[in-house]
Amino acid sequence: MLLCAHEFAAVAERVQQAPRLLVLTGAGMSAESGVPTFREAQTGLWARFSPEDLATPQAFAATPERVLDWYRWRRDLVAKAAPNAGHRALAQWQRGHPGMDLVTQNVDGLHQRAGSTGVVELHGRLSHLRCEQCAQSLPWPDDDPGGVLWHQCGSGSVGGSRKSIAALAAPAGRLRPDIVWFGEALPAAAWEHAERRAREADVVLVVGTSGLVHPAAALPSIAQRAGAYVVEVNPQPTALSPEVDACVSGTAAEVLPQLLAMPPA
Ligand SMILES: [Zn+2]
Repeated sequence: MLLCAHEFAAVAERVQQAPRLLVLTGAGMSAESGVPTFREAQTGLWARFSPEDLATPQAFAATPERVLDWYRWRRDLVAKAAPNAGHRALAQWQRGHPGMDLVTQNVDGLHQRAGSTGVVELHGRLSHLRCEQCAQSLPWPDDDPGGVLWHQCGSGSVGGSRKSIAALAAPAGRLRPDIVWFGEALPAAAWEHAERRAREADVVLVVGTSGLVHPAAALPSIAQRAGAYVVEVNPQPTALSPEVDACVSGTAAEVLPQLLAMPPA
């Protein structure tokens, strides 16, 4: 459903005048940045593996080097991508409107690269590793030595191989991607923050997500029950479409610059 011009202007006005705007983004947000979706990305060396073979605690326990190499490859794909006009529009809007919150299911970091701050990453981040022992999250090092990585707990930095860390006195922890895998719970603090913002929001903008990934899919209805006006931006109708107050048909890069730039009628 494509909204006609006056309907679009009315939706834009509601979005722009919301004291508290919550923006929820999913994979469609980054499609025009050239970030392949989880499944599209399974090409070349990785074509014989499904994400379910790699993005699980069981896969990491069995073949940690393979799982880390897959994430290294995905990090390279994302490094070649760039934020699109939709990411930039959100970042620009946020600078002038501190009442906006941004919650994403994406792990690609493109909102931050566009200039957004305080982004709540429900499914983790490709840019970081996390210690299995102490749960500390550390930036993936630029001088990645490859293989399975360890660190000295409490040191605040990524070390290297098990052998190099074993020489140190303090306890060592193995590092895993800082990603929420299949079968794992969302990070509690991120989820609680998102849920609270959903209850407080005046308007929720759902961008580029099918609404099918739980529990994040519950956020629009949590917001709606608390009185928010919910707007969906997607190229195609989704499972969420019948539930929302307005649908804007189009991609994030097409719709967001217009939605956030259109002067109030
Ligand atoms: Zn540790």
